[in-house]
Amino acid sequence: MIGLGIESTAHTFSCAIIEKKNGNGKILSDVRKIYRPAEGEGIHPREASRHHIENSHTVLSDCLSEAKVKITDLDIISYAAGPGLGPCLRVGAVVARSLSSYYKIPIYPVNHAIGHIELGKLLTGATNPLVLLVSGGHTMLLAFLNKQWRVFGETLDITLGQLLDQFGRSIGFASPCGKNIEELANTSSKYVTLPYSVKGNDVSFSGLLSATKSIIKKSKADACFSLQETAFAMISETVERALSFTGKKELMVVGGVAANKRLSEMLKDVCDRHKSKFFVVPLKYAGDCGSQIAWTGILESQVKKGAPLKNTFVTQSWRLDSVKIDY
Ligand code: AMP
Ligand code: MG
Repeated sequence: MIGLGIESTAHTFSCAIIEKKNGNGKILSDVRKIYRPAEGEGIHPREASRHHIENSHTVLSDCLSEAKVKITDLDIISYAAGPGLGPCLRVGAVVARSLSSYYKIPIYPVNHAIGHIELGKLLTGATNPLVLLVSGGHTMLLAFLNKQWRVFGETLDITLGQLLDQFGRSIGFASPCGKNIEELANTSSKYVTLPYSVKGNDVSFSGLLSATKSIIKKSKADACFSLQETAFAMISETVERALSFTGKKELMVVGGVAANKRLSEMLKDVCDRHKSKFFVVPLKYAGDCGSQIAWTGILESQVKKGAPLKNTFVTQSWRLDSVKIDY
C-alpha cells in the first residue's frame, strides 16, 4: 500500500509518501516548505495559508518525483484535518480533496497530534509508551487505554513551544526559536530562580514567561539557561509522576521540542530512575511533516473505508483524546 500524507496545520506545508509492506512503513519521500514570519513576529494565519497555497504544487510534485511514484500509484490520500489554524488547514484539505475526487483515490482526514504519536512509534519502535507530546500546539502527557489516548497532564495556558517561541521573539530571534534558545542556553550555567508552576499533574508557563522576560537585561544566556532548566524540570516532574501512576515501562517524546538535547537528558534521568526505556523521535521527524499524516492514514485504512467527500472538513480544535482508535 502506498499513501500520500498532506500536512498544513500551522507553519509547515509538507507532503510525504509512505509505503507499507509486511506490516512495516517505509518513508519514500518527505518534502517540506516552512513559512517564516518576520523577525520578532508570530505566525500570521492568513500569510501562512498564502505561503501554503503558493508552495503546494512544488512540494507535491517534488514529493512524488523523489519517491518515484505517480499520483495514479497512490492507494490512499490523507490530510491533517486538525487541530490547527483554520486558513492553513483548509489549504491541505483542498489539495487532498481535489486529488481524491479527480483521481478517485480514497481520502482520510487525520488528527495531526495522533500523527506525531504514530510516526514516533513507527520510527522508535516503542510499543506501549507514556507519550510526551511537546510542540508549538501541544504540551500533553498521554497513555493509551481502551482505544483512546488518555491525558495524564497538560498545559493550563501556553504550550512549551509557545513559551520558547514567545520568549525567543522578545530577545530578537525569529520564530521558531527553540533551537536558538538551546544554543544560547548551552553557553551559560548560571541558574536564576524563576517561577515553577505544576498544578496537580498539569503545568502553567505564562508566569514563567513574564518572569524570564524580566531578567534578560542582566544576561540573555543566563535567562535562556534558567528558562530551559525550569520549564524542563516542571515537565520532568509530571513525567515522573505519570510513569509511576501508569506503570508504563516506556517513555516516548514527540513534537518539535523533542529536538532539544537538554530536555532528553533530563527525561532520560527520570526513565533510568523508573527502569523505563527512553525513546525520542529522530530529529528530522520531530517537527510537523507529511509522514506523520501519511502513516496514520495508512493505519486507519486498515480498519476504515475512505471518508465521503462531504465529511472531509477541518476542525481547528480537534482534541486527540476524542479520537477512537480501532487499528
Ligand atoms: P511543531 O509544532 O511540532 O512543528 O514544533 C515546533 C516547535 O518546536 C517550535 O515551538 C520550536 O521552537 C520548537 N523547537 C524546535 N527545535 C527545538 C529545540 N532544539 N529545542 C527546543 N524547542 C525546539
Ligand atoms: Mg505539531
